[in-house]
Amino acid sequence: MGRKKKKQMKPWCWYCNRDFDDEKILIQHQKAKHFKCHICHKKLYTGPGLAIHCMQVHKETIDGVPNAIPGRTDIELEIYGMEGIPEKDMEERRRVLEQKTQAESQKKKQNSQDDSDEYDDDEEPGPSFQQPSMQPQNSFIPP
Ligand SMILES: [Zn+2]
Ligand SMILES: [Zn+2]
Repeated sequence: MGRKKKKQMKPWCWYCNRDFDDEKILIQHQKAKHFKCHICHKKLYTGPGLAIHCMQVHKETIDGVPNAIPGRTDIELEIYGMEGIPEKDMEERRRVLEQKTQAESQKKKQNSQDDSDEYDDDEEPGPSFQQPSMQPQNSFIPP
């Protein structure tokens, strides 16, 4: 199985705000948790699909997606995996993720930023430094 590196958000469930590593797992989760008929336990694919199923098979109306957090129970929204999520919620999610990664990189910066105060002037201008290369040879005096 080849992995294409798409620059995409990590899958998450719009209905309950849970993170997933794989969109396949997310879809399985949605079918099991949010699109499952509470009467016959049939797994549907979307919220509206579930509503239609309950209406046609059991003559029941569903007023919200099961197991969804408050405000995310809209049964009319056709969300499947990461598809169909309202743009404003995608944006909010992106912002939250950005803030998370920013906070993490700031933490790292603080750890490696401590010895910038000391300034050592080690550079000497060349010409003023003389090497004693010529030694006077008068230490040995012949008799
Ligand atoms: Zn969920
Ligand atoms: Zn059913």
